[in-house]
Amino acid sequence: MSPEPSRTTPPARTDTHAPATRNERLVLSEHPCFSRAAHGRTGRIHLPVAPECNIQCGYCVRKFDCVNESRPGVSSTVLSASEAIERVRAVVERNGNIGAVGIAGPGDPLANEATFETLSLLRDEYPELIGCVSTNGLELPARIGDLVDVGVRSLTVTINAVMPETAAAVYAWVSGPAGERLRGIEAGEHLLARQWAGLRAAVAAGLVVKVNSVYLPGVNDFELPAIAQVAGAAGAHMSNILPLIPQARFANAIPPTPAQIHAMRASCEEHISQMSHCQQCRADACGLIGKDQDMESETLMARFADEYLEMVV
Ligand code: SF4
Ligand code: SF4
Repeated sequence: MSPEPSRTTPPARTDTHAPATRNERLVLSEHPCFSRAAHGRTGRIHLPVAPECNIQCGYCVRKFDCVNESRPGVSSTVLSASEAIERVRAVVERNGNIGAVGIAGPGDPLANEATFETLSLLRDEYPELIGCVSTNGLELPARIGDLVDVGVRSLTVTINAVMPETAAAVYAWVSGPAGERLRGIEAGEHLLARQWAGLRAAVAAGLVVKVNSVYLPGVNDFELPAIAQVAGAAGAHMSNILPLIPQARFANAIPPTPAQIHAMRASCEEHISQMSHCQQCRADACGLIGKDQDMESETLMARFADEYLEMVV
């Protein structure tokens, strides 16, 4: 099974960039990742409540006790839903600039029920904050209704291929329908079909959707324009082409240069808007993009402040 359309029948660009709905206007003006204008004034919080993953990307090393690396897939700890909401309270009350709260790992959010518990608590207590999720898309068709129910407004799906053969080179394995580990082209077909179906379902549900693609020179670079083309035609709002961080199966790969990234974004821009300010943040990132705060320190300071107030009042 191949994701449509084929490379020989490119669809015309569907311009989805002009905000038409209230949700699009909100996310495209206030979410620091979806709006370049907002990223210097509005912060985000990533809540690391999702340790499990249902696929293995060849470039991923997850770490749950990591304080000295800044990249996706790492966090200093894994939180429960109630611990996560305590962090949101601490950070939001001490920083007036938080606009979005997302779940981006350290595994796949949709493979962890704590994601839905956390977002449900967030919706009830902070309905004004933009709830967002970043996923590999495997479970997206099955969980899109649940994401809408817990108030998610924006979504990122990481899609690294259009051809199953290419996906087979990117992913070591993908969980199958019965939880078995699929490999090779079978894994690629299974994942790609769900990613594209999930993306379309998310657009139809009114979410603002970004497609992340990791630029893997010699592996998927020739397919990145096709991903942008299909994503734009499907109604996604933005594409984010990220340089490979060489590790795991791709430890010896040479990442793209900034000039290559720039040129690739320029060639994809005709199909879909390009994000250019992504910092490849940790799964527990907090604050303004590029000026991260330590969420645990903020929480400790908030606790001390509360205890001090109790002593003096
Ligand atoms: Fe790592 Fe995310 Fe890929 Fe899972 S989906 S293996 S957490 S990069
Ligand atoms: Fe935004 Fe990129 Fe950081 Fe995600 S990784 S929060 S898209 S800047």
